[in-house]
Amino acid sequence: MSRVYNFCSGPAALPEAVLKKAQAELLDWHGTGTSVMEMSHRSAEFMSILASCKARLSRLLDIPENYEVLFVQGGASTLFAQIPANLANGFESACYLDTGTWSAKAIKEAQKYLKVDVVGSSKEGGYLTVPDIPADALNANAAYLHITPNETIGGVEFDHLPETDLPIVADLSSTILSRKIDVSKYGLIYAGAQKNVGPAGVVIVIVRKDLLERSSDDLPSTWNFANLAKNDSMINTPPTFAIYLADLVFEWLEAQGGVAAIEKVNEHKAQLLYDFIDQSAFYSNPIDVAYRSRMNVPFILADESLEATFLAESEAAGLRTLAGHRSVGGMRASIYNAMPLEGVQALIAFMKAFEEKHG
Ligand SMILES: *Cc1c(COP(=O)(O)O)cnc(C)c1O
Repeated sequence: MSRVYNFCSGPAALPEAVLKKAQAELLDWHGTGTSVMEMSHRSAEFMSILASCKARLSRLLDIPENYEVLFVQGGASTLFAQIPANLANGFESACYLDTGTWSAKAIKEAQKYLKVDVVGSSKEGGYLTVPDIPADALNANAAYLHITPNETIGGVEFDHLPETDLPIVADLSSTILSRKIDVSKYGLIYAGAQKNVGPAGVVIVIVRKDLLERSSDDLPSTWNFANLAKNDSMINTPPTFAIYLADLVFEWLEAQGGVAAIEKVNEHKAQLLYDFIDQSAFYSNPIDVAYRSRMNVPFILADESLEATFLAESEAAGLRTLAGHRSVGGMRASIYNAMPLEGVQALIAFMKAFEEKHG
């Protein structure tokens, strides 16, 4: 059977070259006679994979020396709790920017640990834009400012960072490695792997070393960022196969020319799709043009009664998982790093033909 173009928001498509390499190495990794899944996490072989994964990520994102890279389990949703648990020790409140479903979930979890100051929200308008943060909204005594630069469900993305001395904590789950970022501007970055990094099961955390001093010994040891850093993310068995695949994805990304090169491709892919949607009266995207996501492109049909037909026909045409999130409906094309330009071109050709047939 041939591979389809998979527009799933996550777990998302992986580069075919990565899957082929993993397949070729599956039974016998580098002459060891075992698969990575069967190796001790403390073996020299796995330690070399972990070190390679960290080194490649550090090169790709140009991570400064005063940051630690951690591999954490439990998904980005667990980080929603682990972040206040680690960073809010000795603080009463934290600031959160509310730009969509994922920020709202992060806020809800944080409220179990501290007082959350919502410093801006676009909820009232249906999360179609990114709110400004009023200059006086940021409490200088807050533990940190949390932002979600790409709202995977709503399709809202921004890359400007608020002016503040507070450590900026960013959920980059669906945008990490898709565009250049300046890591030194952040206190902590986290990203679940299953959008742009690899399979589900591991969360990448990049944290400024001085912030590790906030983690209290009272925390569960597997939740304690300082403890994770001290033990090279190996307090217990890490998700070894997920880390191995992330390393292969990073290797692939380096071969593509790194983040700057893939950013150009991502810009082009998104531009093609939004341009097509905008010139059509049949399809539309409701997001403020300045904040449209390059990674997740939601769109609706002028005639909603055609949605089921659109999904059935696109599926039959080898364009997979175009349904919008269950909470918002409509369609959504997730076009992460691993989605080739040809996939976006095939989607546009399909949308054009569908419009001609049903419009
Ligand atoms: C997918 C996603 C999450 C949740 O990830 P889980 O690994 O399922 O917990 C959180 N934030 C953003 C921005 C996401 O895209």
